[in-house]
Amino acid sequence: MGVGINVSCKCRSKSYMLGIGMLFPDTYKKTVDKIKAGKYGDEGKNIMDTIKYAVVDIESSLYLCKHCGNLIQTEPMDYYAPKDVSKVAKLDYGIKTVEGWGEVPYWAPYMDFDHNFSLIKKTTHVCPICKHEMIRVDEEQLNKEKCPKCGEHYKVFQDMLWD
Ligand SMILES: [Zn+2]
Ligand SMILES: [Zn+2]
Repeated sequence: MGVGINVSCKCRSKSYMLGIGMLFPDTYKKTVDKIKAGKYGDEGKNIMDTIKYAVVDIESSLYLCKHCGNLIQTEPMDYYAPKDVSKVAKLDYGIKTVEGWGEVPYWAPYMDFDHNFSLIKKTTHVCPICKHEMIRVDEEQLNKEKCPKCGEHYKVFQDMLWD
């Protein structure tokens, strides 16, 4: 499940593919393996190693730098922990439960209808151009923001759906 959006103002126009693709469970597993190998830093590794059924948000999202107007697409890498480990252990994932898999095989915030997980660590995203902290924006928020370069409100259009 994903969505293509186009963001434009007087000085630019660019399309982005957001959300999660068809290869999601596979991508999720590969990312968790990288986290456990320490490729995303010690803190992430520590969370995935020590907190039972911890999960991570890898849903491709937009981050805006309000300072210079830089807009990038990246994985949030925010970490969540179960509110109730025994409840999460019983969640069904295909043929097995989380307990059967020994971990949560894949996860994204939009899948967590019952709010079984809560945010425990937010990853800071720094603008590669001006080094200010970027904010995560969805289409609605982006519509309200102005481009700091041309002063125009961003126009956001949905391009197409993909999977
Ligand atoms: Zn602009
Ligand atoms: Zn910036």
